[in-house]
Amino acid sequence: MTQPHQLNALLDTLLQQCQPLYVEGKVADYIPVLSQVEPEQVGIAVATLDGTVYSAGAATQAFSLQSVSKIFALVMAMNRIGDELWQRVNMEPSGQPFNSIVQLEWEKGIPRNPVINAGAILVSDVLVSHYSASKSAFLTFIRRLCGEEAIYADPQVYLSELEHGNRNAALAYLMKSFGNIDAEVPQVLEQYFHQCATAINCEQLARSLLFLANRGVQPHNNEQICSRRDAHRVNAILSTSGMYDQSGEFAFKVGLPAKSGVGGAIIAIVPQFGVITAWSPPLNRFGNSVVAMQLISLLADELGLSLF
Ligand code: GLU
Repeated sequence: MTQPHQLNALLDTLLQQCQPLYVEGKVADYIPVLSQVEPEQVGIAVATLDGTVYSAGAATQAFSLQSVSKIFALVMAMNRIGDELWQRVNMEPSGQPFNSIVQLEWEKGIPRNPVINAGAILVSDVLVSHYSASKSAFLTFIRRLCGEEAIYADPQVYLSELEHGNRNAALAYLMKSFGNIDAEVPQVLEQYFHQCATAINCEQLARSLLFLANRGVQPHNNEQICSRRDAHRVNAILSTSGMYDQSGEFAFKVGLPAKSGVGGAIIAIVPQFGVITAWSPPLNRFGNSVVAMQLISLLADELGLSLF
């Protein structure tokens, strides 16, 4: 096994090696505020189950959580309504872009899975309908998981999404027309955009997701965050659907449950070992960070982390 000082050195080396690839991607601009982020920034953190965090580069620089927030919301919804959730959302890969509308029409308002936009909006509906003060419940949940009060929802990102969220509104109204959204759509969208606007850094994000690498138990305080079965289910969904329409390729190359967001973050869960978070804003045509993907791929290869 790699020794701690070797892991820090390895992260540094890989970061130097991958950073120049940022020119191959493009920072998301369909949410205008996101396009203002400096494209050359790169950070990586590895949190292990014993509580150690290894990192390199801009690992304490906050970024926009975006779709990685779908994991936290999903766990909260599973905890609140259990198996009822799976009557309203499926667990299959979509084979479509993350914000696609066509499939939702064909499949009568039942989203393919909870980590594409339609599915995540449905999950937000569950939170709005089953938690009082659901926006602060979401933030409280992440703060508790990473043990830091500093995590917040960036108001500028939130407003930018709200102003440019017509496609997400379309998804929500379409599901509502099929009777698959309970609360009022504007309220559901506010919840969803608020989650996506969470500002967090690589180290905090890696630490907060450790329970998924540890059968549902957060290692620093032994708190059961979700059941072992639900931790398994989240990892299964991330393995098949977490990397947008490149999930198959990611499983093929890397072999870890992972989730990416248009803010440029990618997290990968390594069961019984820990969590990797890499961040670099420029995205490839699928919406995955070019540098973060390459970093995680090389690190997993170097340490032999693949599950398969
Ligand atoms: N807030 C973004 C959206 O709804 C999240 C997309 C993503 O990160 O995949 O379009």
